Amino acid sequence: MPKIILATHNRGKLKEIQAILGSLPIEFLSLFDYPELPEVIEDGKTLEQNAVKKSREIFQLTQLPTLADDTGLEVFHLGMAPGVISARYAGEKVSYEDNNRKLLKELYGIPYEQRKAQFRCVASFIAPNIETTVEGICQGRIISDLRGSGGFGYDPLFIPKGYDQTFAELPSEIKNRISHRAQAFQKIKTLILEYFSL
Ligand code: IMP
Repeated sequence: MPKIILATHNRGKLKEIQAILGSLPIEFLSLFDYPELPEVIEDGKTLEQNAVKKSREIFQLTQLPTLADDTGLEVFHLGMAPGVISARYAGEKVSYEDNNRKLLKELYGIPYEQRKAQFRCVASFIAPNIETTVEGICQGRIISDLRGSGGFGYDPLFIPKGYDQTFAELPSEIKNRISHRAQAFQKIKTLILEYFSL
């Protein structure tokens, strides 16, 4: 069975990617299977740069087909912040709760109509003779209190367009069907099927 490394240490993300791609006849490994590999520093100015950097570095070190994603929450009222710094919005080494608190503070008093936001996921796949990136976007709004316990990151604050529950309240099957990551990885799925002639 062909192998692909998912270049992440984020367990929430891994679970989602495996749910989306799990039906493929591929053995998916992650960075937890390679504890000796150095940490990739995510110092790109864009999601694209970070996704490509992660997949290139891990591919160079392992020579195995590698898939990486970088995702950001983009809030229109905040000029598309936190964007590429979504993981460290409230500072270095902060928790999801710290970032959520900071986001609520930044949007304090802003009415619902002006709380439009989107998750944008850029996924990069690199293997011998192929290097490609795709994007998935999920639009919605940021609410003013935390709701739900599923998902991860900003999920308790994000209601996707067309729904009235947050990503943390919706069943994971729904998030994995409509999310930014689902959209990007569905495109990746097609590429993988072609690449390995499956
Ligand atoms: P990463 O750099 O792609 O790992 O993602 C950056 C940050 O965006 C994470 O630390 C999370 O806070 C947030 N994030 C990424 N994907 C999601 C998601 O699907 N739901 C909620 N937050 C997310």
